[in-house]
Amino acid sequence: MDTPQDILRALGLNPDTLTGGTLVARSPIDGAELARVHEHTVAQAHAAITRARQASLAWRDVPAPRRGELLRLLGETLRQHKHELGRLVSLEAGKILAEGEGEVQEMIDICDFAVGLSRQLYGLTIASERPGHRMMETWHPLGVVGVISAFNFPVAVWSWNAALALVCGNAVVWKPSEKTPLTALACQALFAQAAQRFGDAPAGLSEVLIGGRDVGEALVDSHAVALVSATGSTRMGRQVGPRVAQRFGRVLLELGGNNAIIVGPTADLDMAARGIVFGAIGTAGQRCTTTRRLIVHESVANDLLQRLHKAYASAPIGNPLDGKNLVGPLIDRASFDAMQASLKAAAEQGGKVTGGERVLADQYPDAWYVRPAIAEMPGQTDVVCHETFAPILYVMRYTDFSQALALQNGVPQGLSSAIFTNDLREAETFLSASGSDCGIANVNIGTSGAEIGGAFGGEKETGGGRESGSDAWRNYMRRATNTINYSRNLPLAQGIKFGE
Ligand code: NAD
Repeated sequence: MDTPQDILRALGLNPDTLTGGTLVARSPIDGAELARVHEHTVAQAHAAITRARQASLAWRDVPAPRRGELLRLLGETLRQHKHELGRLVSLEAGKILAEGEGEVQEMIDICDFAVGLSRQLYGLTIASERPGHRMMETWHPLGVVGVISAFNFPVAVWSWNAALALVCGNAVVWKPSEKTPLTALACQALFAQAAQRFGDAPAGLSEVLIGGRDVGEALVDSHAVALVSATGSTRMGRQVGPRVAQRFGRVLLELGGNNAIIVGPTADLDMAARGIVFGAIGTAGQRCTTTRRLIVHESVANDLLQRLHKAYASAPIGNPLDGKNLVGPLIDRASFDAMQASLKAAAEQGGKVTGGERVLADQYPDAWYVRPAIAEMPGQTDVVCHETFAPILYVMRYTDFSQALALQNGVPQGLSSAIFTNDLREAETFLSASGSDCGIANVNIGTSGAEIGGAFGGEKETGGGRESGSDAWRNYMRRATNTINYSRNLPLAQGIKFGE
């Protein structure tokens, strides 16, 4: 087992869907062709949205705890196929196996969360100012939820959205990244297995659209899609957000990050170094929560940098399917070129760059492995303020805590942030209203690797959306305020007398 074809078969993919298409799926591990997948036309996209709309009309009347049963079965199916799906994530997105399987675990976790949620879609009961009246709010499904996802979390992002959207009574139409169509088809095949065991799930409850921007735009512009949840670059969000707003649709944006770790003078440097290395080079710097900036106190900077350079020098780079490697490839050549351009700009802006060069080119001429880079910068220059989706860690020194906070908040993005400190005042200030301006703010933990229990997302150019845990489910429902009069009179609110 474990050739790509074996894995695809084990996940229940129909071999006919994997040949003869126009979209070539390649593995970033060695550039090898994995399949030729059929793309949807815009007309087919509209037909899928119509099927989903029909499904949502039936699904919204299924009691939520019964809907939860479908998510329980999906979680069970994912548990059974964790190894194969995790391996396919590694093959298609280039993550190391532990992270590929970790992504599937995240899917399982959100399914479990959704099962619990199926009995907790609570509304409030509100005291009415009128005698013999009761007020309450009820939460109803939206209808069709469109999901647009990025290449770097090819399965987890769909599951965060789909698990909540489905348990809330919606149908889901998913447009995955054109760089990762196979994992999307695999998820759809696993969903079909769960739906079959469920018995009476309406056809069209989960649809997948394979294709590029035109298919994504069909989803974005369709009045039948009540909510568009879009994960990807800020550039994409800038296009999608206003288009959905134009038709007064709802939008949930999860866009780029530029995440920093502050290391204070009292920090446990050993712990800090481990958190920074995982955050900066894990997933080859291709996480939205990757640590991209290090803001370190002058008094500990040399010591910490020494530890980082040592760890970087010994981090094994190579085929992510080989368990000993920690850094896999970049997704493609464009990503490599963008990294080189940013390193050149960093040097021009006064940075001292180590690493960043291509490696293993002889062994993998059609793949893009790099040595993760550290760039010691004279300040937060232009290049530092941009997200380059590659393993570059910009390092800046500070002397005063307020200066560190100003640097941390001084970029357009606001996703994840962290501080390593043993100083209570610093830690609490960092978490306070005048501290980090990000959606995620951590103490003595790095910026990446969030759990599903909390709401996930960020501020400013990261888009403001929240997915996953806490009360993020409310994004997938509409709220109705109900007033019930059980008296024999008709008093008006605010004591208004009308013709009495
Ligand atoms: P991308 O923006 O190139 O593509 C993301 C998705 O958007 C793809 O499916 C693409 O086809 C689609 N798309 C692009 N333009 C579109 C348009 N005009 N209309 C409709 N669909 C459109 O991003 P990528 O390179 O795949 O992923 C990397 C980016 O995603 C990084 O910026 C990263 O930070 C971000 N990201 C954010 C989060 C988060 O939760 N905040 C999570 C993962 C990735």
